Amino acid sequence: MIYLDNNATTRPDDQVIEVMNHYLAEDFGNAGSISHRLGSTAKQAVERSRSIIADYLGVMTTDIVFTSGATEANNIATLGLTRWLTEQGRCVVTSTVEHKAVIEPVQQMEALGVQALFLDPTPGSFARFTAEDVIGRLPSNVGLVSLMWANNETGCVSDIEGIAAAIKRAHPDCLIHSDFTQGLGKLEPLNLEHIDMLSASGHKIYGPKGIGFLYINRHARKRCKPLVFGGGQERGLSPGTQPVFLIAGLGKAVELCKNEFSARQDHLDKIRAVMIEVLDSAGGVLNSSEDCLPNTMNLYLPNRDAEATMIRLKDDFAVSSGSACTSATFEPSHVLKAIFPEEPARWAQSLRFSWSHQTQAFQPNSLCTLLR
Ligand code: PMP
Repeated sequence: MIYLDNNATTRPDDQVIEVMNHYLAEDFGNAGSISHRLGSTAKQAVERSRSIIADYLGVMTTDIVFTSGATEANNIATLGLTRWLTEQGRCVVTSTVEHKAVIEPVQQMEALGVQALFLDPTPGSFARFTAEDVIGRLPSNVGLVSLMWANNETGCVSDIEGIAAAIKRAHPDCLIHSDFTQGLGKLEPLNLEHIDMLSASGHKIYGPKGIGFLYINRHARKRCKPLVFGGGQERGLSPGTQPVFLIAGLGKAVELCKNEFSARQDHLDKIRAVMIEVLDSAGGVLNSSEDCLPNTMNLYLPNRDAEATMIRLKDDFAVSSGSACTSATFEPSHVLKAIFPEEPARWAQSLRFSWSHQTQAFQPNSLCTLLR
């Protein structure tokens, strides 16, 4: 089985599993129980992971909040600002190609009375946004903009640094959030000078499921209200006993993203070369521009139903017809619908291939034969 569904989830690295086993079986203490050795060892592990992530992003450790994943991080970064936006009479802007973990909390904000604007991608831009696309479409009362860095379905990478800088010039106190989940580890880290919040997830970067983080700077922190209440952990934004083994595993996964970046990129390029041969001989059409994530290819295969093709592939290749959360319902992808509104055939005849540095090289023919 060749696993080409790494944008849905990745296999945890062996070093991550080793670290997690240690904090499950040996140093199992509660990071809040610092009166004894087991507790303080657990707390050290949590703080070590926080430092690894903060160093990697070039931000302060106090600005990293561990969450149960990118879904929770996205919810805090959007829904958590409902009260501030309402009091200020300001609106939230996002896009129709975001992950549901941003779209749905923003819809909730709308239901709570916040004015919301969902930007469609510019025709021909796939799901890629630039400062020019965004800046002229922002209402004058914009208070929060949430746009993803890399799209999980098409792999398109938006110019978040340029967008954030342009927004801050035009609207200095507008907060900016970016869902970083698919870019982290696959692209060089961004300059966060103009970005107030970003979300990421462990299981997309060879770490465990059920853990992620939110970077939130002091400007956003002052305005953000918790969605869950309890013991005050994670500066009150994601309270509850910290899952030390998951946090330690996430820290290890981020450390590996940094240390193994170039070796991983080399392997991604090798698999990409195989996939380009597949694209050509299967008569596929790219659903993204060339400058997308180095591990992702979303292919329109005219006259081939995606669900039927997936069934044909299923013993040999694991692929996806959209994001994992969407594919369970067999609904056409909201991302492809937003990018190609006039092409329903394309929504039903597209597959996403997402490889990793762990993917073994394969013969293009082995996949092409099944795609015909
Ligand atoms: N955002 C993006 C772009 C994603 O790809 C995903 C995972 N499909 C999420 C958010 C949700 O992440 P998690 O599974 O950690 O909640």
